[in-house]
Amino acid sequence: MLKIQQNISLAQRNTFHLPVKTRWFMEYENEEDLGKILRDEYFQECLSIHIGQGSNLLFLNDYNGIVLHSRIGGMEITSEDEETVILRVGAGCVWDEVVAYAVSQGWYGIENLSAIPGEMGAAAVQNIGAYGVELKDVVESVEAYNQLTFEKQIYPAEACGYGYRESRFKNPHEDPHIITQVNLRLSKRPHFTLEYGQLRERVGEKPTLEGVREAVIAIRREKLPDPAVLGNAGSYFKNPVVGAEQFRRLQTQYPAMPSYPAEEGKVKIPAGWLIEQCGYKGKREGEVGVYEKQALVLVNYGGATGDEIALLAESIRTAVQERFGIELMPEVKYIV
Ligand SMILES: Cc1cc2nc3c(=O)[nH]c(=O)nc-3n(C[C@H](O)[C@H](O)[C@H](O)COP(=O)(O)OP(=O)(O)OC[C@H]3O[C@@H](n4cnc5c(N)ncnc54)[C@H](O)[C@@H]3O)c2cc1C
Repeated sequence: MLKIQQNISLAQRNTFHLPVKTRWFMEYENEEDLGKILRDEYFQECLSIHIGQGSNLLFLNDYNGIVLHSRIGGMEITSEDEETVILRVGAGCVWDEVVAYAVSQGWYGIENLSAIPGEMGAAAVQNIGAYGVELKDVVESVEAYNQLTFEKQIYPAEACGYGYRESRFKNPHEDPHIITQVNLRLSKRPHFTLEYGQLRERVGEKPTLEGVREAVIAIRREKLPDPAVLGNAGSYFKNPVVGAEQFRRLQTQYPAMPSYPAEEGKVKIPAGWLIEQCGYKGKREGEVGVYEKQALVLVNYGGATGDEIALLAESIRTAVQERFGIELMPEVKYIV
């Protein structure tokens, strides 16, 4: 069924809880209805954006166009053998419910991604990641509607352009797609990734799937604000990746600078550390601020506007640039 609403508030559909409105809100439950919307002439003339749970978005104004949302649900096994299972998941499924289901079935691979807000479709757009695991590690293929050709296509993982919080689906202007299903390759064979955060010490010598999931949820609760209580969009900036030579120079000047190896011999620096060094951790300006336990998270104390949040982000970017010569890039997507 297709649900169409006009002039509705998006305050409960973005985790900053910005009280913006959209001119149109359209929610579809199946591919047939999505196809109808995409082919509609009025839709094609309008500004449009597809959202999930709005946990990675910053609305700067009311949205003078069409906000689309998927309610395509369902999880089904499409193939399996002794070692692996391919799980086909509807784009509208809540991501953490997918993780909970996989853990309950004894399937390995996504337990470290427990409790990340949002839906399956967006997870595949963002290549969500946490505790040393990224969604791309388990993506078999992504099913999506190409908005230029109106054709449904299946993209194997290699064709999805995955990188750190990157994918081909993040460029809707050049290559517009709407994801309808994601096929995940999960393992029946026990294996864990415990080298990040405090995971290993939390789960002990004999890790279990449930134990890892519980530990991840507990660590996240201690570190991150619950958007239902304090509006936020998780990490506001990406962790910057610099060349080995630039990192050597930075390390000489700042020996305490933490780092992780990144692709192609590069080095990833935690953006939260850079922001904290610039004195922003716990800083509040009116209704916006930087979370006291994690400097990478910007929060709305209640009455902030998108512009105020963007302004604080800009002053953080400038401070980090001036002090370290590093450009922070937002992970959050700005919607104008
Ligand atoms: C408290 C908190 C903690 C977080 N922790 C993490 C973390 O540990 N790791 C991490 O990676 N992220 C984290 N995030 C960010 C966020 O949860 C992810 O980016 C998530 O994938 C966003 O899902 P969403 O459904 O809310 O998508 P939205 O924010 O609504 O949209 C995100 C993007 O996906 C696009 N999109 C949505 N659905 C579709 C679709 N079906 N087809 C095509 N495009 C689509 C949107 O246009 C937009 O570009 C956190 C956020 C919060 C609030």
